[in-house]
Amino acid sequence: MTPEEFRRYGRQVVDWIADYQERIESYPVLSRALPGEVLAGLPEHPPEEGEGFDAVLADLDRVVLPGITHWQHPSFFAYFPANASGPAMLGELLSAGLGVQGMLWATSPACTELETRVLDWLAELLDLPARFRSDGPGGGVIQDSASGAALVAILAAMHRADGGASGRDGVTGRRTVYVSSQTHSSLEKAARMAGIGAANVRVVDVDPGTLAMEPAHLDALLAEDAAAGALPVLVCATVGTTSTTAVDPVRAIGEVCRRHGVWLHVDAAYAGVAAVCPEFRWINDGLAEHADSYSTNPHKWLLTNFDCNAMWVADREPLLGALSILPEYLRNRASASGDVVDYRDWQVPLGRRFRALKLWSVIRWYGAEGLREHVRTGVRLAQDLAAAIADDPAFEVLEPHPFGLVCFRPRWDGLAGDAADAETMALMERLNASGDLYLTHTKVGGRVLLRMAIGAPATTDAHVRAAWKRIREEAAAG
Ligand code: PLP
Repeated sequence: MTPEEFRRYGRQVVDWIADYQERIESYPVLSRALPGEVLAGLPEHPPEEGEGFDAVLADLDRVVLPGITHWQHPSFFAYFPANASGPAMLGELLSAGLGVQGMLWATSPACTELETRVLDWLAELLDLPARFRSDGPGGGVIQDSASGAALVAILAAMHRADGGASGRDGVTGRRTVYVSSQTHSSLEKAARMAGIGAANVRVVDVDPGTLAMEPAHLDALLAEDAAAGALPVLVCATVGTTSTTAVDPVRAIGEVCRRHGVWLHVDAAYAGVAAVCPEFRWINDGLAEHADSYSTNPHKWLLTNFDCNAMWVADREPLLGALSILPEYLRNRASASGDVVDYRDWQVPLGRRFRALKLWSVIRWYGAEGLREHVRTGVRLAQDLAAAIADDPAFEVLEPHPFGLVCFRPRWDGLAGDAADAETMALMERLNASGDLYLTHTKVGGRVLLRMAIGAPATTDAHVRAAWKRIREEAAAG
């Protein structure tokens, strides 16, 4: 493709995306494609001769779009949001256009230094501890996902706990990691990948009311395991759990970690970005004193296209100790000088994309005030919805709901237990099949709840009101 052809098709692609944004509400939110349908629409064999890009765009409409669930639809309320935005898309395009592979500082100094600056900016915007900033012992890095950040945190924590023995000799003795029943499954996956083993992921009790981790039980488990000869590696506290956005008591958990000399990782994948607003800075309580690593996903609620996880460590030495490896072919004068950051040592893969461009574009386009406005809109819409649900005697709402997620269920008068749960699931399936909106569910205390996560940039009061009306009508009809 010549630059001239790129210019022509590039304009078409940008127009296609802008048109898509304008007509997104005309699509059913949840794709109606049946298993195998997209596959059947695609030729079995690749073309022998190159095709024009028009053919790709035509198939995008014909085959791909029907198989798309519209995550940017204003009535997408499932899981957590995965925000896209104009500046992020343009930043992503620029990153693709530059085609940089930023494994070393030397392979593109701007790829590294822009990332360092943007992560410092984000730490400032979220009012994160000074020791996370690049001019101290710690620093920030963009990972692919919160799951990737969890794995890297476990590897760094294990390196610190055993002085590098596991990296050298393999995991020999029993190592343990601490989560709660509400912790994201990525922690168990990371513990498995790190060679710690699922059986050594210890599940700390939660308060049945708040679903937050119980520090006293953590304390007891740590003492018990250490007495039994295990080496506790890492505790994960969550700010905004996946199921219900419960918030673990980070300060109290951190005090326990400190007493036992264990690494504290704070997973704030969804909710962490809320701290752009001063009224949400309470979620940072205890980080400055206790957090060894922290991660949040601008690719969820901060307007930055997937993938973009922001991870910080309070001390980069254990991370580098766990992940640095220097084959001859990567040696270079800048790395040897010790004056530069090589982010390959902060992550699992060697190669890395220039992801900072999209986060930089987002922060510059919206500014701190624009980001706050976005978060506040999602929270306000969620709080209005929660108030409407609480006012309806046919429904109950789970408290608290401090962010953009509301969990609720119909009371189904006369029905209880499994029968009520089956009705709730059937209601959700009917709503999702209608294409009008998309919600998901969770279970709390063994009972099914519907989850409505608000935070897409296009979602307005009208969309939330329309969704609530549809839910009530559908529940009444069911
Ligand atoms: N942690 C929490 C609390 C989450 O809610 C999620 C996803 O929803 C994750 C981790 C995993 O995020 P990622 O897809 O970035 O790995």
